[in-house]
This record gives sequence, structure tokens and C-alpha cells, in this order.
Amino acid sequence: MVKQTIQIFARVKPPVRKQQQGIYSIDEDEKLTSSLEIILPRDLADGFVNNKRESYNFKFQRIFDQDANQETIFENIAKPVAESVLAGYNGTIFAYGQTGSGKTFTITGGAERYSDRGIIPRTLSYIFEQLQKDSSKIYTTHISYLEIYNECGYDLLDPRHEASSLEDLPKVTILEDPEQNIHLRNLSLHQATTEEEALNLLFLGDTNRMIAETPMNQASTRSHCIFTIHLSSKEPGSATVRHAKLHLVDLAGSERVAKTGVGGQLLTEAKYINLSLHYLEQVIIALSEKHRSHIPYRNSMMTSVLRDSLGGNCMTTMIATLSLEKRNIDESISTCRFAQRVALIKNEAVLNEEIDPRLMIIRLQKEIQELKDELAIVTGERRTEALTEAELLQLEKLITSFLEDQDPESRLEVGADMRKIHHCFHHLKKLLNEKKILGNSIVSSESKDQDCQEPLKEEEYKKLRDILKQRDNEINILVNMLKKEKKKAQDALHSSSMDRSEFRRSQNSPFPPGNPEEGQRRLLSSASTQAQDFSTSGYRSSLLHNKTGMRGEMSLGRQEAFEIFKRDHADSITIDDNKQILKQRFSEAKALGESINEARRKIGISENMAVPSMPDLQEERLRSQLEEEKRRYKTMFTRLKALKVEIEHLQLLMDKAKVKLQKEFEAWWAEEASNLQVKPPAVNSLNHMKPFPQTSESQHDQSQFLFNKSGQVPQIPSPQCECQDLGVGSDMYARKILPSPCPSPRSQEQSRTSTPLGNSTPERPVSSVPLTGDSQTDSDILAFIKARQNILQKKCNNSSTQKVRGFHFYS
Ligand code: ADP
Ligand code: MG
Repeated sequence: MVKQTIQIFARVKPPVRKQQQGIYSIDEDEKLTSSLEIILPRDLADGFVNNKRESYNFKFQRIFDQDANQETIFENIAKPVAESVLAGYNGTIFAYGQTGSGKTFTITGGAERYSDRGIIPRTLSYIFEQLQKDSSKIYTTHISYLEIYNECGYDLLDPRHEASSLEDLPKVTILEDPEQNIHLRNLSLHQATTEEEALNLLFLGDTNRMIAETPMNQASTRSHCIFTIHLSSKEPGSATVRHAKLHLVDLAGSERVAKTGVGGQLLTEAKYINLSLHYLEQVIIALSEKHRSHIPYRNSMMTSVLRDSLGGNCMTTMIATLSLEKRNIDESISTCRFAQRVALIKNEAVLNEEIDPRLMIIRLQKEIQELKDELAIVTGERRTEALTEAELLQLEKLITSFLEDQDPESRLEVGADMRKIHHCFHHLKKLLNEKKILGNSIVSSESKDQDCQEPLKEEEYKKLRDILKQRDNEINILVNMLKKEKKKAQDALHSSSMDRSEFRRSQNSPFPPGNPEEGQRRLLSSASTQAQDFSTSGYRSSLLHNKTGMRGEMSLGRQEAFEIFKRDHADSITIDDNKQILKQRFSEAKALGESINEARRKIGISENMAVPSMPDLQEERLRSQLEEEKRRYKTMFTRLKALKVEIEHLQLLMDKAKVKLQKEFEAWWAEEASNLQVKPPAVNSLNHMKPFPQTSESQHDQSQFLFNKSGQVPQIPSPQCECQDLGVGSDMYARKILPSPCPSPRSQEQSRTSTPLGNSTPERPVSSVPLTGDSQTDSDILAFIKARQNILQKKCNNSSTQKVRGFHFYS
């Protein structure tokens, strides 16, 4: 049993640009603890937080300042917990802090760079690496991903997500068994045999969470997310199984309702916006007070799920995320206060071992048989019936393994059955006689053989050659996978509407072309992995396709609008950056693949040269050369594997960014469409249009929305605008837009000041220009045109001489 208080760490987030930074200092001098001093600015101290105190001191195990990177956080905070989980203890890491303080960044990671990946992906990577190294045990890993929103539990990995929305799925509920163990009904567990599969599950959960989020359901700030890695281990042949769980928790934002202070006094203790955080605090207060017999775990779902992590069988770590800008100082002080209480809680982690009932039954059956045999001997009962074929075969197997066992203490256990004992003696006698005959012939052949060293050497070479062949195959597979990855990246670069689903499938099928045998072998050996792949990445891609890949069904205008939306979106820079990095990684991997081939070739040459007839010295030199090449080869091979993981991760990031982009576009589009319906033919109804979310770079040139380089975007007829270049329109759109038949006084005024071009468009009656009749297509087209008009309008408004006359829209 390991007794330990909850470990508390603090992480200070870099300030948001243009925000005034608060004053704080970190003292690292003391052993094992660091202290954080926060200075409250006078204007805030005066009545906002507490009785004009100006300086606050908090102790933490360690404090990570703004410059601490994700690797440091993992190494110092998560790795020790992951190690104890591997040893069989439960572990929990939870991030606590106000919205925007970096909880998600710390737990899951940033969506932009590979180096920004957070605790979950790094821990998965570490755990799978360790599992691969340890061949003494059999491990199984399962993943679950739970979201708690408004006291309701949702399974983020429920495969039915694809078909229905989060709210329609069965809620995750808590069940308690007589031993007061918590079980979660409707929470799916997914086996992950590799890091890649586990990452796919993380991605899937995050995407489902993002898709479910609406302005009414601010999942990312109001919900708690618990990503759990379930690890079981067993030594081969043993009936004892160890289970350990690692919860990685991203809590809801800890901000509280506005506090009201009068005359410098804090009137009431501020309340959390999130009710379950309030219950969490109550549990923590109860645990930190001595002699409290009742701990109110049952009050909320979150405290029930995390019961073991809080004052129970678990090694728990809290990360207080702090945003120490001046305006956030009071929330940061609250977070630190909470952490100080958490630090008082003692946990007692024990190894969770249980006996596998199946193995136990086998063991007991054997014991019963032995006892029966013994009883038979003691009671003098003699068995006369002959041993069966199977029993004889079993006995001979036992004798063989007994003879092969090098341990002088080993015993031949056949039970107390005299028939078996007799048969063993018989069989041993037979073997001994055979050995004698064989031994004679061996001695005679040995005397003929001059050099008995040679076959050994030959054998060694053969072994090395076999290993080389094996590596060859591995490289072939990796190189082929890389080729496919590269092709995918190129496809992604050239075509954003690629059918990822199919592609993923082909990527996941690791068949090296032209080597069907190898492919088949891999197919057989990884049949289970394949099945998993279809349920994770296959599912992921189909989810991407179904939830966001509606572009195939989009009308032309909408597709075009999406292209522009995408280009002008702030995230497009990230996507482009990641594409660049991905490209770099591919070429790095390619170069590495070539170096590996070269190294392999050299190994081949050295081996072929190392014929037994060589003088010792030369052979020795060749041998060391060979060893050196092999070492180099191994290092490069490991690097290539790491690159593969990185490439996969980058692709996940890009997929995620695309989902986000599409989601934002759909939201924007829906809003525009509904605005159109709410405000039908109003003159100058463009003013309510929301512009695309844009980067500052794109804002300076909104005209690019109107004129893309290829000139494919149909232009809007804008006879009212003085900008000549805005006035050319495509028929397709022009026929759906009419100058207002009854312009408002303001628009009439405007038209008077407009250019002759403006007057050149004849005003036709509305009814003479029908729309397509398809309301969906029409509203799509209209929304698109309105978006353009909006920007056009802005452009014209910006210039004092340019005016836009109102349009009428009909649908
Ligand atoms: P929370 O989950 O607490 O609401 P986020 O993790 O979403 O906060 O962080 C808010 C923003 O700040 C994100 O854009 C994130 O990338 C950024 N951020 C947070 N912590 C850091 C950090 N340590 N370094 C760089 N950027 C950070
Ligand atoms: Mg968050």
C-alpha cells in the first residue's frame, strides 16, 4: 500500500497579448515544495477579493512558469503517475482552473503543433512503449471517454454517435455494487492494442465533443471530460490479474459568479457557475477536515466517478492552471486556495489484484485429481484399466519437458497413480536406449569431422541472415506505408474534398503492393488489429465524412463559399503550417528510408564477405563493421517509427481542424440562412450579415472574397457601386438579384450619387425574374450573394465616394 497526499502542481499560462499581466513571483528555493506569491493590485484589493490584503502565498510541489513546455509537464507530472499505473496502482491527473487558463492545453494539448500535444497523447505513447519493452507480462489496454455535462454522463466513444446526436444516446449512469464499487452503465470500453489505436479513440471522442457543442451547450467550458486508460496485466501461467485505471480529467471552468463586495468587504463566498464543481469542493472540504465520517461523494456524478481518486485507492495529482493576467488574479487566487485544500487529502493506493476465475478453476481441477490419486494409493485401491492414448501422450510430453529442464530441482509430477509411474519408467528406459545408439553414431561422426567450429559459424550467419530478411520485410512494409502517407498528403494538398474514408481504409491496409504473400501474412496476424482499425480510424473517417463531409451534397455556391470561408479562416494558417510540417516529415522519412536501405545493403555486403575462410583479423574487422552498421540501422529504424507516429498525429490534428472549420462554416451558413428568412425583402438588409471569421491578414483584403485568383467566383452585379471592378456579374446570380423596384429614400439618394453604371441596369418587375424554385438551392445562392454583398457594402462604406444601393431578395 502506498500512502500519499494528493500532489499539487501549478502551471502559469503565457499571457494573452495586450492583456496586463498581474504581479507574481515563484520561489523554488525550498526543497520539495515551491511557493507562489501573487500580489494583488491595489485597485483589485480594494473591495474585490478580500479585506485589502495585498500578497498571497501558496505552496505547491512544483510551479511551472509560462515558459514550461509540454514535454517538461509530462516528464514531471504525468510520467510518475503513468509509472505507478504500470506497476498496478490507480492514478488520476486532473486539471483545475478557470476557462482559458490552459486545462485542455495541458491535458489534451494544442491543436496546432505536434510539440503541443498534451498529457494524454504523451502518456499513451509512454505506456505503449513500456508495454512493448516488458515481455514478462501479458497486458491489455482499454480506453473509455466520458463527458459529464449538467450532471448527465455521455459516452464520447459510443459508435452510435455517427447516427444520432449526443442527447439522443443512452446516458451513462452510475451503479453501485454491495461493496460500494462504482460501475458505469452505457460507457463503452474499447480495446487499444497500439498507440495509434488509442490516439484514434482520443481524436474520436474530441471530435464527438466538438460536434455536440452548441452555443446552448458550451461543452468545452461547462463539462468535465474523463479519459480513462484501463490497464490489466498478468504473468503468463499465473491466475492473478492486476487492474489499474488512469483517469486524465479536464474539468469544467472553475470561474464563479460575480462577487459583490461593498466597502472593501467580501460579502459572500463566491459560488461556482458549475454545480458539480461546487460538490467537488464540498467533498474536498470534507476530506481535508479530520474526523469527518461522511463524505458527500454521492451528491454529483463527477464526485461519484472520481471517488477513488479523492481520498481513496489512487495516486492523484492536481494541476492548477493559472492565468495570471490582472483581470484574472482573483480567479487565480481561488484556484490556488482550492489547491491548498486538495493538498491535505491523503490517498491510500493498493495493488488491485484479482484471481482470474477460469485459471483458478483449472488449478483446482488439477488439485482435485491429485488428491483423488493420493487417496487411491492410501486406501489401497488399485486401478487396473489401461491408460488412454491421450494420457500416454500427455505423460510423454511431461517427460520430454522434464528432461529438457535445466533446473536440477525440477520434478516429474505425474500424481500418485502407479500406472503412470510405471509408464514413465518404461518411457525413460526407451529414451535412454535410443540415446545410447544415437550417441555412438554421433561419436563416430564427430571423429570424422576435422573442424567442429564451422557448422556453428554457419549457423550464426544463417541466423543473422534471417534477422536481416525479417528487417527487410519490415522496411518494405514501412516504406510502402510511407508512400501511401505521402500520397495522402499530396491528395490533401491538391484536393480538399477528398474522400478520406476510402483513403483511410486503404492506408490501414498495410499490404505492400507486389508482395501479396507478405500482405496475407500480415492480414492473418493482425486480423484483430484490423478489426479494431475499422472500429476506430475507419469509424473516425466515416464520422468525418458523414458529419462534415457534406460537401458532395453542397450546391455550387455553397461549395464556393466554403472554399473562401476556409481560405480566410484563422485556422487555415494552422492547417497550412501543419501541411508544410507534414511534407517535411515525409521527406525526412523518405531520406531515412533511403539511409536504412543503404545501411541494410552494407550489412548484406559485410555478411557476404565474412566467409569462414578469411583470416581472423580481417574477419574481426568485418564483424565490428557489421555490428556498427546494425546499430546505425536500429537507431534509424526507431526514428522512422517515431516519425510514423508523428505523421499520424499531425494528420489527426489536421482532421480535427477540418472538422472545426466545417462546423463553423455550417454554423455561419445556417445563421445567414435564418437571417434571410427572418428578414425577407428588406432594403439594405445586408447590414446584419456577420462577416466570416477572419485573420487580421485577411481582413485587410476582403476584396479577395470577391475576386479569387482563378476568377471562378461569379461576380455580383453591383451597378450601384462606383467600383467598376465590382460591377460585372454572372448570369446565374444576376438573374436572382434585382435592383429594388421601390428603393427606399436612402437608396434613391444613394443611386443619385452613384455612377452612370449604376443607372445602366434596367429596373425590371420582380415577377419577371423567377428563382430556381428549389428553396434549398435558392437560399444557398442567396446567402452566398448576401455574404458577398456584405463585404461589398463594407468596402463601399469605407470609401466615402462609394455607395451601394439596396437590393431586394426574393426566395
Ligand atoms: P481551458 O481548457 O482551461 O479553457 P485552453 O486549454 O483551451 O483553456 O487554453 C486557452 C488558450 O490558451 C488556447 O488557445 C491554448 O492554446 C492557449 N494556452 C493555454 N495554455 C498555454 C500554454 N501553456 N502555452 C501556450 N498556449 C497556451
Ligand atoms: Mg478546455
